[in-house]
Amino acid sequence: MVLDELKEWLYGCSHCGTCKNVLDIFTPTCPAGEKYRLESYYPSGKMLIARGIVNGVFDLDEDIMDRIYACTGCLSCEQQCGIYHHQHIFDTVQALRTEAVTRGTLNPAYMIMVESLKKDDNVFGKPKAERGDWAEDMGIKNAAQEKADVAYHAGCMLSFDPELWEIPRSAISLLKGAGVDVGIMGAEESCCGGHAYEIGYMGEFTKYAEHFIETFNSLGVSRVVTSCSDGHSTFRKLYPRVGIDAKFGVMHMVEYLDQLIKDKKLNFTKKVPMKVTYHDPCHLGRHLGDDGVYEPPRDVLKSVPGIELVEMERNRANAWCCGAGAGVSQANPDLALWTANERLKEAKETGATALVTSCPWCERNFKDAVKEYGEDIEIYDIAEIAQKAL
Ligand code: SF4
Ligand code: SF4
Repeated sequence: MVLDELKEWLYGCSHCGTCKNVLDIFTPTCPAGEKYRLESYYPSGKMLIARGIVNGVFDLDEDIMDRIYACTGCLSCEQQCGIYHHQHIFDTVQALRTEAVTRGTLNPAYMIMVESLKKDDNVFGKPKAERGDWAEDMGIKNAAQEKADVAYHAGCMLSFDPELWEIPRSAISLLKGAGVDVGIMGAEESCCGGHAYEIGYMGEFTKYAEHFIETFNSLGVSRVVTSCSDGHSTFRKLYPRVGIDAKFGVMHMVEYLDQLIKDKKLNFTKKVPMKVTYHDPCHLGRHLGDDGVYEPPRDVLKSVPGIELVEMERNRANAWCCGAGAGVSQANPDLALWTANERLKEAKETGATALVTSCPWCERNFKDAVKEYGEDIEIYDIAEIAQKAL
């Protein structure tokens, strides 16, 4: 988005502060505001910054850049704010970032990501040829060469982080176990473009969105399934903006898993005796608005024999963010890890020994926060838990 398109929303904020806490339970919502405890880091401060930029009162100097990139795009503020502009708070932050890119005021933290997208179609600076390495020896169909009913999209994080490869490998085992005709794109898979969008690179986003829709339209798959919540919300919420009709459906792995279990295509036979709590990824919840996927992951966990599920105080649409979103793990790792550790402390308070989630960006950041802060808790993806019960 560009700032000029948002002008009518910039004056909606009354600075009432309602967005700073979850309504009724008065627990904090905004990671950036809580970490720095300055108005300019809270959503209301960011709305003022946007007004200052539009009216030429502020420059995009170092202090302003620091504020506009200190936002995890969690949409928690939008959830709490009751004023008419509330659906456009992160749009405003994203438009400020687009304005910075347009003016050539680039954030050096993103240079590797942007160069890597141009050269290798991923956000980590890794060779494109290694993209399908996680699936080596699994004997999965190459959907680019052989017709498959369902395409599994791993996404950048799961493709290039070997510590997380158990997630896509578990997902594929579950899909095959349920008799799904599934294939992957392997080295021909590309980034979804969601991160490019969130850090203000609209050209890269549009390129990937068009490529993705045209590729899967021509391959004739009925559905694309992903374990990545960021990728999933990019497909569902952002791709319709490029105006090309997709002839396939998209589902997050946890929705598909829930459906396969309810259709009795999967049968869990082993006990997994664990007390767990579930972290709702922002991109699988608030980012999808009324379509937020809150019950399917809980239903999947409840269907696993031996699992005891306990809830954190802030859950579903009120969940506290993991801290990794919207490029914060690259631009401001301190904020990302602090935010994750706040969540881990909340998880520990439930008495759970493990936190389960359904997004590799959350899982990576939680694992890094455990290393940094030493909280004693295990981190899993929901597919890993389900796989244990097969
Ligand atoms: S963003 Fe909404 S809730 Fe927050 S201060 Fe502004 S009007 Fe109040
Ligand atoms: S999207 Fe999240 S981090 Fe960004 S201003 Fe709103 S509550 Fe704060």
